Amino acid sequence: MRSCEDKAVKVFDAKLNSNDELYSQEKLLDLSVGCDGILSSLTDKLDEDTINKLPGSVKILSNFAVGFGNINIVAAKKKNILVTNTPEVLTDATAEIGILLILGACRRASEGIEAARESSWKWSADYLIGKQLTGTRLGILGMGRIGRKIAKIAMSLGMVIHYHNRSKLNADKENGATYHKELKSLLSVSDVLSVCCPASKETVNLINKDTLEYLPKGAVVTNVARGDIVDDEALIDALNRRKVYAVGLDVYKGEPNLNPGYLKHKSAFILPHLGSATKETRTAMANLAINNLEEFFKTGNCKNKVN
Ligand code: NAP
Repeated sequence: MRSCEDKAVKVFDAKLNSNDELYSQEKLLDLSVGCDGILSSLTDKLDEDTINKLPGSVKILSNFAVGFGNINIVAAKKKNILVTNTPEVLTDATAEIGILLILGACRRASEGIEAARESSWKWSADYLIGKQLTGTRLGILGMGRIGRKIAKIAMSLGMVIHYHNRSKLNADKENGATYHKELKSLLSVSDVLSVCCPASKETVNLINKDTLEYLPKGAVVTNVARGDIVDDEALIDALNRRKVYAVGLDVYKGEPNLNPGYLKHKSAFILPHLGSATKETRTAMANLAINNLEEFFKTGNCKNKVN
């Protein structure tokens, strides 16, 4: 990542956040004085109020992520600020974590790791029996770049793929997966659910008390997208009732804090937002976020704009 920071400093008159400090709104606004653009990360909360208070010189927010739930893109648009993201380059790494969540939750990895570390186990024919993926139906909520890559790997593991998007994909992109126009229809066939859609007004708490009931009893719920899509209380309640067998989570509402209800469940396989965390991917994301700024300052536009 050092090379990316060097590049940013070479190309721009850049102020770096070298200690990865979590900026308050006040500090973010102070630092933005005199800036033409901001390279933000998902921990920078650029809500309506913050955007409205940004100095008029700021014309672009180049987000270091494909998701942009940390930015109010409507408020940015109103202020004539372009918002860009980093699609494609993080698809493979995030899909790998999506698969890890499925495997970890289905095969009881949290319990296994704890027992192995404590040497508190003895092999027996029925010890830590989990769910086999081969032949199991995988429901993908949000069959975009990451969802499709997860589907491809899951198919090679013998899983049968179903998906729900607002729009049906063409046959090429579907690659044999079954489309469900309604979310509830997808949920009713999802032995394992993988949440891969963006966080938006439409998707906040899409997985909730009502929709969870459509899952088959003993389903596994995984989320590699954003915590806001899941109603935690409802999912924890479904775990308590064994309606849901296990969960695999990489993202949380209000992260880095997570609902303590998950911690009571050994069947919760939880990771600290590791989706894109490989050297290759983070470097590619940083380069793309810098390139987005360069493209905008050269042309006044950017192919990765989202507003
Ligand atoms: P993408 O290519 O834009 O795919 C998003 C998919 O979600 C599309 O197929 C879209 O289809 C579907 N979708 C959008 N709104 C929907 C709705 N209301 N109901 C049902 N489906 C909906 O995005 P991506 O690159 O795969 O990334 C997906 C998300 O993953 C990002 O937004 C980000 O939040 C998250 N992510 C997480 C990590 C991590 O570290 N864990 C890393 C990268 C990305 P339609 O438009 O047809 O509905």
